[in-house]
Amino acid sequence: MAEKQIREIAEIPDRRTAGIQDRRTGERPRRECPEFSGGGRISGSQRRAASREPAAESEPWLRRETTEVPDWGDAEYEDELRRKRREKARYEQRRRAYIMKQRKKRRLRRLLRRVLLLAAALAVLTAAGFWGFKLIKPSQTKIDPAGIQARVPDWITQDFLTPNPYSRPQTALEEVKGVVVHYVGNPGTSASANRSYFNSLAETKTTSASSHFVIGLDGEIIQCIPLNEISYCSNHRNKDTVAIECCHPDADGQFTQETYDSLVRLVRWLCDEFELDSSEAVIRHYDVTGKECPRYYVRNPEAWEQFLKDVKNAG
Ligand SMILES: [Zn+2]
Repeated sequence: MAEKQIREIAEIPDRRTAGIQDRRTGERPRRECPEFSGGGRISGSQRRAASREPAAESEPWLRRETTEVPDWGDAEYEDELRRKRREKARYEQRRRAYIMKQRKKRRLRRLLRRVLLLAAALAVLTAAGFWGFKLIKPSQTKIDPAGIQARVPDWITQDFLTPNPYSRPQTALEEVKGVVVHYVGNPGTSASANRSYFNSLAETKTTSASSHFVIGLDGEIIQCIPLNEISYCSNHRNKDTVAIECCHPDADGQFTQETYDSLVRLVRWLCDEFELDSSEAVIRHYDVTGKECPRYYVRNPEAWEQFLKDVKNAG
């Protein structure tokens, strides 16, 4: 069997031994041996197997060949190559893992930056919106009606009603969002007479009625209720408005020029003190309940528009 194997190995042509010198002895392979002609390769394991077998005495060249020209180098080289390939593969694997990790880190950092930027932008927008809203719409609740009451000018006569449940309940007026204009509905009566009527309700108890101010036919202004208390004049708007009753000489309800001028002056002062936009905050009793009050300025809307313009331009 061994002989057969050796023969088979020897029969495989080897290019390196054909026509070149032996590595160790410097001898050329024996050309007279037909088995050595031609090219080809023998694997290292086949050669090792062959070298372990005793050479046949009749074929000494065969023994010499298998022992003197072994191919240890190939095996070691291939082992080394495989080892290096494995090392390279492991290195590549580690490198790819590192790159992926770095990419992941970068993606996370980018995401974090975007989230932070978005949060900052939202915070800025919210703050700007809040600040803008405050600038556009100043709060009315900060204005203290009692403070304004203390500054009532001397062209207004303060003659407060006696506190009573029918005309001066002394309920706090905490904020003022508007000014409501009325007409007394009793032609030719004076401001003083109307003030007395409100005060008499404490005794007569016939109805609940009153007004912060009454403007007479000569333009005199009487204040009946302090600005930090409600009056009974404008229905559901009593709680957040200041009321003004105006006297008139005739049933049509048109004001005298003096009454009109005093009304413009008083409304302008109130709008300034309570920081109201006169074009929106100054209304008729009619605008609250639909009642024909003040009659002339309900029947003649253009006269009311003119009044609002006069208030706006006053001061
Ligand atoms: Zn009215």
